[in-house]
Amino acid sequence: MSANVAFIGLGNMGAPMAANLIAAGYSLTVFDRVESAMGEAVDQGARRADSAVDAVADAEIVFSMLPAGKHVRELYLDADDAGQGILAAAGADTLLVDCSTIDAETARLVAARAGERGLTMLDAPVSGGVNGAKAGGLTFMVGGDAAGLERVRPLLDVMGKNVFHAGEAGAGQVGKMCNNMLLGILMTGTSEAINLAVANGLDPSVISEIMKNASGGNWALNVYNPYPGVMDNAPASNDYKPGFGVDLMLKDLGLAMDSSLKNGVATPLGSMARSLYSIHSRSGAGARDFSSILELLHGMQEH
Ligand code: NAD
Repeated sequence: MSANVAFIGLGNMGAPMAANLIAAGYSLTVFDRVESAMGEAVDQGARRADSAVDAVADAEIVFSMLPAGKHVRELYLDADDAGQGILAAAGADTLLVDCSTIDAETARLVAARAGERGLTMLDAPVSGGVNGAKAGGLTFMVGGDAAGLERVRPLLDVMGKNVFHAGEAGAGQVGKMCNNMLLGILMTGTSEAINLAVANGLDPSVISEIMKNASGGNWALNVYNPYPGVMDNAPASNDYKPGFGVDLMLKDLGLAMDSSLKNGVATPLGSMARSLYSIHSRSGAGARDFSSILELLHGMQEH
């Protein structure tokens, strides 16, 4: 537990993940472009780094939790304020673990560049949302070297309850992409079903309870109900404050659509979900929680 750990990107997900590592006794150095994002971790005793390069200087393990592929490329490969990406600054035995949800190509590219420097890099995107991150209940989908995974597994066990080795570099991202395409479809379908029931006079809590215990049960319905007031701790009951933002879901559905085109695989429902999230985002809902797709569907009602 003495490992020096750097954590870069302390947003909705990164902050609670870092908090769990600190609570478990790991010595953390944190960095985020947004100063205020580091506040909670620093209050818990983490060291605030001046730059990403500064953060990784003494780190044995580096975690990153950033929005999208371009941020990961910038962080690992491109120049930052200190003049280099962190691959060039990391020590010889540093293990790099990117938990962001990004395209598999970028994950493979950055892992290959790390390999050229003799460094091991894993892609380890997560599922479970902000509540899962807070509770240490995430699911990690890991791509890359099996020995590297064993080295970081004790830390992943602190932040999550399931760890899957999906395969080679990029495989974790493929697993995550498929999962989130399904999630976007399920959240949209769940919202449709509840809206239809409510339009027919049913109480949203009653229809939700019925479907949870019937064959319509699914994660969106069971733990992340999109209808306000049904589930106290769901973003829907907190004015759709994320949580997991509409624009992040739109990004993930875009990754799936890119992949379906590249591989010639039919994904008609994924394509429909992407279109709906795109319309929703363009209507100004990009920063709201992704379960607010229910509001878009509600707005499409004819009376
Ligand atoms: P977020 O936007 O809340 O946090 C991202 C953080 O990264 C921000 O604080 C930002 O300032 C920081 N950042 C960006 N570029 C940086 C850089 N170069 N150096 C340092 N800091 C930088 O996003 P989030 O909700 O925490 O999601 C992070 C990733 O996790 C995304 O890829 C998302 O798709 C994925 N994810 C999110 C959820 C969720 O429920 N929010 C669930 C599973 C996976």
